[in-house]
Amino acid sequence: MYELFNINNKVIVMTGGTGVLGTSMVSYLAAHGAKVAVLARNKAKGDALVEHVKANGGDAIFLQTNVTDKAILTQNAEEIIREYGRIDVLINGAGGNMPGATIAPDNTILDLNIDDFRQVVDLNLMGTVIPTLVFSEYMVQQRQGNIVNISSASALRPLTRVAGYGAAKAAVSNFTKYLAGELALKFGENFRVNALCPGFFITEQNRALLTHPDGTYTDRGNTIIAHTPFKRFGEPAELLGTLHYLVSDASKFVTGTIAVVDGGFDAFSI
Ligand code: NAD
Repeated sequence: MYELFNINNKVIVMTGGTGVLGTSMVSYLAAHGAKVAVLARNKAKGDALVEHVKANGGDAIFLQTNVTDKAILTQNAEEIIREYGRIDVLINGAGGNMPGATIAPDNTILDLNIDDFRQVVDLNLMGTVIPTLVFSEYMVQQRQGNIVNISSASALRPLTRVAGYGAAKAAVSNFTKYLAGELALKFGENFRVNALCPGFFITEQNRALLTHPDGTYTDRGNTIIAHTPFKRFGEPAELLGTLHYLVSDASKFVTGTIAVVDGGFDAFSI
């Protein structure tokens, strides 16, 4: 078991590493011996996370980034190589819905703001594609690479109101499968690409959609719970086991899969 799941000294790059799900993932991976490069926008949050990791005996660095900007990502990659010498795993965690791209309950698709729709697709789809291209260059040189994208329940079946986010995450799932085939066929079986597909976890990007300021659930929050056999939202820590499996050799023959972690939401109909 130890060898299969051993991630000691693996260099793992995580975009969106300062988010609610990202913070939990970065802390966990570093606690299990990985060297983690945390890439996100907010330097104060990033520095605090690195300090927390180091205080617990782990190894991490923070680099400010924008996942839609190839030039900044290229600088990030060079800095990671200077610091750690290689890149074993890329987790494309940056993403999320945006308030402007959400269709209000009283509106219809005809009211959709095209710029907001484009922005949410840009962050979630291009913010996965561009880092993948930048970091894959190093993986190809190393003849080994592992990429974990973050998809969403909204990719499996469209959710009401979040048309842009759902379209972008569906494209992330499709790109995951495309890239799994492409990299393995062109560069061999040491290249794997999978997606983690979380159901509903209350975080900053969806708090206003799912909860009222007093913490009680909105109608949408209650509808989600009613359609989840486990009858609750997920806890960020509940993604860690599946993530660990995907970044480790335990999933050595696994590529192009979408690993759903959702308390049964997708499986359930009536
Ligand atoms: P979050 O808002 O807490 O974190 C988002 C992270 O992305 C932050 O670190 C932020 O700095 C970073 N980010 C945003 N724009 C960026 C940019 N242009 N460049 C670099 N970094 C940028 O969100 P979260 O809920 O922790 O979500 C993490 C991932 O999981 C996202 O891809 C999200 O879509 C996905 N997801 C979340 C849920 C959920 O229920 N929370 C469900 C399914 C999928």
